[in-house]
Amino acid sequence: MDEHDHEHAGHEHADQEDGEHDHDHTQDDAERREADAELEREARRLVALARIRQYGDPVLRMKARDVEAYDDDLGRLAERMTALMHEAQGVGLAATQVGVLRRLFVFVEDGEDRVVVNPVITARSDETEVDDEGCLSLREVLVPVERPCRVTIEGTDASGAPVRFELQLPAARIVQHELDHLDGVLIIDRTDDESRRGALARLRPQPVLGAR
Ligand SMILES: [Zn+2]
Repeated sequence: MDEHDHEHAGHEHADQEDGEHDHDHTQDDAERREADAELEREARRLVALARIRQYGDPVLRMKARDVEAYDDDLGRLAERMTALMHEAQGVGLAATQVGVLRRLFVFVEDGEDRVVVNPVITARSDETEVDDEGCLSLREVLVPVERPCRVTIEGTDASGAPVRFELQLPAARIVQHELDHLDGVLIIDRTDDESRRGALARLRPQPVLGAR
């Protein structure tokens, strides 16, 4: 799942000034710095999004291959993906989304950055929940997707050491979304027909070179 929650923070304080009071210049400076920082975050978000493959790109429909070599390139890729995820203000990013057809993704769990290479879901709850999901590769779209509430995911970290995460929502939802990317599956494939039609109408028409 990609986040859409943090985009509006920081604007609340800007509209209060009406000129009746002597301004506290220290406060004005602080507000200006905060506004500047917000503009910079937004600029960085847009630059990051421009580096993430967008809907219509056929690579998003392709199946990624297992990682076999745990080399420096893999470590650098994981670091680059983690940085890009944060700059894009997302909470998960799959290698497919940066055009690399290898089975790894990064995500955030309880504020911690995680990497899973060759991920496999080894257990999932019968209990499910429907909630809206967005995606850094389908920027205009937010659609309801039903997912198991708890999953266990296993794989390795970027150095090849085994990792195992027992996750609840929201992290459980994030890893299922990212694992889908490695199989060429998108949220519009997981939602109901009406939501899919609405999403496809919002997505700019583009030539679809994949199987669908
Ligand atoms: Zn996504």
